[in-house]
Amino acid sequence: MLVVLKKQADASALDELIRELDRFGFKAHVSQGVETTLVGAVGKGPTPEIMEHFRALPYVAEVIRISKPYKLASLEVHPLPTVLRFPTGATGGGHFLVAAGPCGVESREQTLTAARYVKKHGGRMLRGGAYKPRTSPYSFQGLGEEGLKILAEARRETGLPVVTEVTSPHLVEPVAEYADVLQIGARNAQNFALLKEVGRSGKPVLLKRGMSMTLEEFLMSAEYVLSEGNDQVILVERGIRTFEKATRFTLDVSAVPVLKGWTHLPVWVDPSHAAGKREYVTPLALAGIAAGADGLIVETHPRPEEARSDAAQQLNEEEFAEFMSRVKALLPAVGKALDAAALR
Ligand code: PEP
Ligand code: MN
Repeated sequence: MLVVLKKQADASALDELIRELDRFGFKAHVSQGVETTLVGAVGKGPTPEIMEHFRALPYVAEVIRISKPYKLASLEVHPLPTVLRFPTGATGGGHFLVAAGPCGVESREQTLTAARYVKKHGGRMLRGGAYKPRTSPYSFQGLGEEGLKILAEARRETGLPVVTEVTSPHLVEPVAEYADVLQIGARNAQNFALLKEVGRSGKPVLLKRGMSMTLEEFLMSAEYVLSEGNDQVILVERGIRTFEKATRFTLDVSAVPVLKGWTHLPVWVDPSHAAGKREYVTPLALAGIAAGADGLIVETHPRPEEARSDAAQQLNEEEFAEFMSRVKALLPAVGKALDAAALR
């Protein structure tokens, strides 16, 4: 349920409410607005009697049942958009960010080259997998810790924060030592042990939608992270499985406005994994922006033809520069711009 405090309620009233919620077995999540204080009370479904009890408290204006199965992710509990801020820019609430880089970290030279031109063309976060969740056990699995060190070096040099995938609960701690944002891949989007662990890490989480997940299931996965006390989650639509074979997956463009109507969390689009072919990456990214996305994550490699994973969908520098100029041209039409935050 959601408890709305009266405008004149002070800090001691809020403390008292939190204690009272605790007594009834609810965990309180406070959103302090300019005018009103909302307290999301998460626990076992409140009975009408319990709701009546809280409604009768002198400092309570209203008690509302949260109708959705996801609570902390819902706009009902948190009506203002969540904004995630990084040294290079922000996402959510009108802020727009592009994360770009190779599918996998393959070498120091490859990653540093990509990081330099990503920054030059307006990318504000560096992506790159050090642990790759590959469909085949015989495919390139990533450089592991060596890859994390290369990403950290690229961050030191360019100032770009780093997003990289974590594939297993026991890797959360070591990956969090190097990464600024922990990525949960589509194949792990319902790995609940992993979601809880990244929730406890305190690091921002970039959560990909599973390829066969409904949007409600997607938000329930985000809820696992939020329920551990971590409210910094970016949702990424990266294409779902359909019968169509012309693209690798089918970008579910409607996921963007639907999610924006259900949740306060930033919603991004990954056109690379949806398309699977480089010629479709830019149009899908533009469709995502037009639909209301708060950011993009896109793959680029200095020499895509030599890439050890996802070669067909990675843009080279020239293509990435063109991609960025199309993105920059469209953003003002939706009232957004690339954050101009200064880079080191
Ligand atoms: C990736 O971003 O490198 C990746 C593996 O994506 P996904 O989990 O969406 O397939
Ligand atoms: Mn990839």
